[in-house]
Amino acid sequence: MFNNLDEIKKNYGIKEGSDWMKLKDGSNKVRIVSDFVDYGVHSVRNKGKYKSVVCIGKENGCYYCANGQPVKVQFLGWVIDRADNQVKLLRIGWTIASQIKKLQESEEYGFQDLPPYDIDIVKSGEGLDTDYNVIPSRKDTPLTPEEEEMIAETVKDPREIIEKMKEKAKSSVLEEIDSDEELEELSADEI
Ligand SMILES: [Zn+2]
Repeated sequence: MFNNLDEIKKNYGIKEGSDWMKLKDGSNKVRIVSDFVDYGVHSVRNKGKYKSVVCIGKENGCYYCANGQPVKVQFLGWVIDRADNQVKLLRIGWTIASQIKKLQESEEYGFQDLPPYDIDIVKSGEGLDTDYNVIPSRKDTPLTPEEEEMIAETVKDPREIIEKMKEKAKSSVLEEIDSDEELEELSADEI
């Protein structure tokens, strides 16, 4: 497991140093810096563990779709992890996405493309009882020139990454995530 991270990064076109963010229990302060793009995954039980497999689509001969396994929506995008101020890829599920959408449409916190403020994703519970609460920062904070530069260097369209994940899943079984705890929100797992 995880024995070829460098190659995986290269295959996904992810720059050296860029990483997946893993949501931890409690507070996870982030700044959203890209669009979040939806894609489907199947939760597959393997040797007593759940893992998430990218759905390549029924029309492309997805094995799991053919077996009637439900597809779950996830969203992939880029954030600045305020814990270390690095730009990272983040997977989120429906719970978090819908809360961000509500903020976007709200009077107080509404925004056009990307929120001009940080958000705190608060994780509680575990396993099937995992819950997420998105709390927006009260203040807008402009990105610094350094952050803008980091974003320009690292962030690429999540669609490209998702396409590569699907290509990879087509040619082999991509064990994108290997999890024994996250059933509801597989977003919290590292690649
Ligand atoms: Zn499928």
